Amino acid sequence: MVDGKNKKNQPVSPALSEEAADGPTQHDVVRGPLGFGRETVESLVIAFTLALLFRAFEAEAFVIPTGSMAPTLMGRHKDLDCSECDFNFQAGASREEDDQSHTLRTELGRVNREIERLRRLAADSSAGLQQRDVAQQQLADLESPSGKLSVLKMRLAGKMIASATCPNCGNVMKLIEGEGPSVTYDARYPSYNGDRILVDKFAYDFREPNRWDVIVFKYPEGANTNYIKRLVGLPNELVSIAGGDIWTSRDGQPATIARKPPHVMQAMLQVVHDSNFPASLMQTEGWPSAWTDWADTSLWQSEKNRRQFTATCSAGQSASLRYQRFNPTLDDWKEVRLGMGVRKGARPALVKDFQAYNAISQGGHWVGDLAVECTLESKSESGRIVLDLVDGGQQHSCSIDLADGMATLVAASGVKASTPTPIRGKGSWEVMFTNVDDELRLFVDKKLMPTATPVAWSSEIKKESTRDPVLEVVQPGSTVPSDLAPAGITVKADDEPVAVVVSSIKVLRDIFYIGAVGFGRRGEIRDEPILEFPLEADQFFVLGDNSAASKDGRLWIDVHYVDRRLLLGRAISIVWPHMVTASRHVTVTLPILGELRLPSWPNFARMKFIR
Ligand SMILES: [Zn+2]
Repeated sequence: MVDGKNKKNQPVSPALSEEAADGPTQHDVVRGPLGFGRETVESLVIAFTLALLFRAFEAEAFVIPTGSMAPTLMGRHKDLDCSECDFNFQAGASREEDDQSHTLRTELGRVNREIERLRRLAADSSAGLQQRDVAQQQLADLESPSGKLSVLKMRLAGKMIASATCPNCGNVMKLIEGEGPSVTYDARYPSYNGDRILVDKFAYDFREPNRWDVIVFKYPEGANTNYIKRLVGLPNELVSIAGGDIWTSRDGQPATIARKPPHVMQAMLQVVHDSNFPASLMQTEGWPSAWTDWADTSLWQSEKNRRQFTATCSAGQSASLRYQRFNPTLDDWKEVRLGMGVRKGARPALVKDFQAYNAISQGGHWVGDLAVECTLESKSESGRIVLDLVDGGQQHSCSIDLADGMATLVAASGVKASTPTPIRGKGSWEVMFTNVDDELRLFVDKKLMPTATPVAWSSEIKKESTRDPVLEVVQPGSTVPSDLAPAGITVKADDEPVAVVVSSIKVLRDIFYIGAVGFGRRGEIRDEPILEFPLEADQFFVLGDNSAASKDGRLWIDVHYVDRRLLLGRAISIVWPHMVTASRHVTVTLPILGELRLPSWPNFARMKFIR
């Protein structure tokens, strides 16, 4: 496969239950380059480009078919703009193209040909009467509501992605039309092939693999299959998964948390809330706002449909905004659409590891590792901005002095350090404060602001694995650090008045590694608070970024590690994500090539280096 011979749809993975959604059916495989199909023109262009690239870099291209590395890498998927809030997200659709789907489609073709044959026979006046009766009977059997034709169509319909849930506003988008065997996809939501990536096959000839590298390797339980995963455990380590994080130890020493380097952490953060995409319908009906004026002093003015907030403080005043996750449920949306208004007493919820990419709604794990990001526009020469994050009832903060640009990061444990920043006086900056892997960091305009010593603390793995969130529902004015109000933005004026505008506010979360030990009958994950994996010399431990739907080192049966000899290389970049179709386009159907939507152009926004 690596050499690009057009073997279709291998490899075979262990049979999985049929109702298993896009989750556990992930084969976690990378296919060789350039499948032949609807996106063939695109493939030809990329083939040409890559041929040139290969000559230069001796790299190789692979296609990602499944979503085990989502959202870092997409398998076959639907690219969706939420019909309520316009937030862009992806839903995996690889089961449309899995082995089972292909078998079903082949079988359907066979049944259709048989039906054709029987029809001709039944209508053939030269055939014997008895023969025609038998054909008529067989035809009726095949086409009856419980007959083979409708059973096959139903089973294929079951392979379709019926709906997807917006991670920003909870809106459930229906992706199919019709019912039963005649169900079809809503044409507005086409499925796209997986990302095409470039793999550096010589990456590890001269250096050791690094933790967090995205690597391609031969599947230890099936020699001819290429897998792609993230490297999280190195030779001779005892690797543990606990509290959503990776822990490692050597030679019987206590386990320490494995921290992601800043650029990896940034790339892996996932959006939980984005103020640029308000769900207008809910807002009009009075659904609680994600951001609340916490001091209740009316110093904040919300603008542009709560996309932007302006604080105007006189000397000595401070204004505070707090985030609460008020995500409407399916029922909330139904009631609002039926004109019944919003439910009274909506409660804030914890941030969980919900993954919109997966058809099975999992996301049962609380995520305490969060980040808050916003565009900060200062209209004054002085004042202070304080960003804070709550994790398990522990409050961490970052205070930026607008007069001199110094930022001070303070952990709940008391660890603190300062760093100069360009945030000084009047101006506009993109600021992100993160609390990930027991370390605080500040980024300004995407760049890390390094402190002289890291603002990090060490915990005990046993305690982390059983740590609970603080579930106190807090009201504006409360200073209790609750995980139900886990992020805050505060503007403080000292001697002079201060005016600050915050916009494009995002709450993001870290990846949550699940200690998965298996899947239940309906594809749901069964997990343990701590899982340990000992590694010996030349053994590596790998996990998929889509922790709820990745068959990886946790779940392999014979071995849990990748031997050094099986390493193929490091994934460098996404070179060819799916095409974007213009909103005004024509669909042409060509022989062999099938349907093409023109004009289309490459999705340059997703072409990127893989971190
Ligand atoms: Zn939405």
